[in-house]
Amino acid sequence: MPTDREGKAIYAPYPLRKVEAILTNKNFKVAVVPPEKIDKVIESKGVRVIGVNVHDPKGIEPVSVKLSMIFGGGETWTAKFFDELGEKISKLKRKYDIKVVVGGAGAWQLERETPEWIDVVFIGHAEIDFPEIVKKLEEGEKIPKIVKGRYPRRIEDIPPIINPSRSGEVQITRGCPRGCWFCSVTPDTFISFPIDYIIKEVEVNLKAGIKDVSLITDDIMLYGTKKLNEVNHDAIVRLFTELKKRGVEYINFAHISAAPVKLSPKTVKAMSEIAGWNEERAVAPVVGLETGSEKIFNKYMKMKAYPWTYAHWRDLIVEATSIMNDSYIFPCYTMTIGYPEETDKDVEDSISLVEYIIDHEPIAWIFPLPVIPMGLSKIRDNPLPAMERLPSRYWDLLYISWKYDLKITRKLSKTIANTSKNPLIRSMVTYMIDKVFNSIEWYFEQIKKTKGKSALEYRDLNLNTAYGIVWSIFQLFKLSFSSP
Ligand code: SF4
Repeated sequence: MPTDREGKAIYAPYPLRKVEAILTNKNFKVAVVPPEKIDKVIESKGVRVIGVNVHDPKGIEPVSVKLSMIFGGGETWTAKFFDELGEKISKLKRKYDIKVVVGGAGAWQLERETPEWIDVVFIGHAEIDFPEIVKKLEEGEKIPKIVKGRYPRRIEDIPPIINPSRSGEVQITRGCPRGCWFCSVTPDTFISFPIDYIIKEVEVNLKAGIKDVSLITDDIMLYGTKKLNEVNHDAIVRLFTELKKRGVEYINFAHISAAPVKLSPKTVKAMSEIAGWNEERAVAPVVGLETGSEKIFNKYMKMKAYPWTYAHWRDLIVEATSIMNDSYIFPCYTMTIGYPEETDKDVEDSISLVEYIIDHEPIAWIFPLPVIPMGLSKIRDNPLPAMERLPSRYWDLLYISWKYDLKITRKLSKTIANTSKNPLIRSMVTYMIDKVFNSIEWYFEQIKKTKGKSALEYRDLNLNTAYGIVWSIFQLFKLSFSSP
């Protein structure tokens, strides 16, 4: 992350920019700095409170757990970096009188086991209670180790960012009324930010030379609406038009749901036309596919298909995918697998759903992820997933999905490789793609055959030392030559 001469970040993740705006509004002096510059800023500025924003400090968010599991378990780099930061901050605390508060989307992971060096874990939104906590820390007042921030209910309580955010991130909605049990967004009050508010934030980024916009939302089709059974076409079109008018080059967004896509295909088409998406500049948002099981669907995500029901789920997905693909939206479908009452029969229903989608050959990726009991969700007291607790057919679902994911990625990579004018580069890239993809495919086949156990062979791969890297490369060579 580039910094200025004082060590302050030129760009920063949006949540940090939000906290910066909230504290600045309350007259605190704030410096947003990347971890590697923290000592420099503390030495020169006389810092009293350090705030750390975390996304996955213990490496237990869904993608981390899945990737760690299929490579034999072990600590993720997110967890390792967090521990290293903790060591650094502990040393600073021994030298200076500093208090530390940790917050952010992954703060819930620290609620049960809080490292010694953290004075307060702040869970939830910062607008209402965070400034007061920082003040108390500055003044040395005693406060509980775990603090839960209240949710702001009014836009006026949420100040816009004042410095540029990474990748041009700006939030357009907060919360989601669908109420899925496994989701940490569920307790949030649903808010659509007014266009003027969004444009104000976009202009902060444009002034800093960031010409792209990444819209933060849990469902872009909810923008400007008050009901789940209607899409506010005009509000979305106006938002996209205003962004383009301001000179935004590329509009990206994080999430979309299948049901409102089917409700309003004309909105999807309009978004794509205004944004100018095409084969080379498409978008790949995350879309919840979750399950093919009626039992799991109706218990944990009943509103996911609203205004339709589970009975329409598979056709709704196929139809919505086709609408999105026609507008260069290539969905990354995520599934949640491993609920306590989920059996192989439920996973078989999920396999059947995935096969049904694949039969239609869409441009889409499917990722079956172990369901995680996230701190603010309704299932927060469930145990963390473990390989031995997953239904055994999970590995078949994983294999079928990855096989298709690789097929689509291979197809798109070749299209990209073919844009090179140099025939030597074209053939080298194509060769590498084939070799790498064959190896990955072979790896997943082994995982499927052994119900995940073959992954344990790779648990000792260690990329943290020079010896570890050489040994890992040797293992990868072995893997490449034993694969077809
Ligand atoms: S639809 Fe998505 S964002 Fe909304 S509650 Fe369900 S999982 Fe969360």
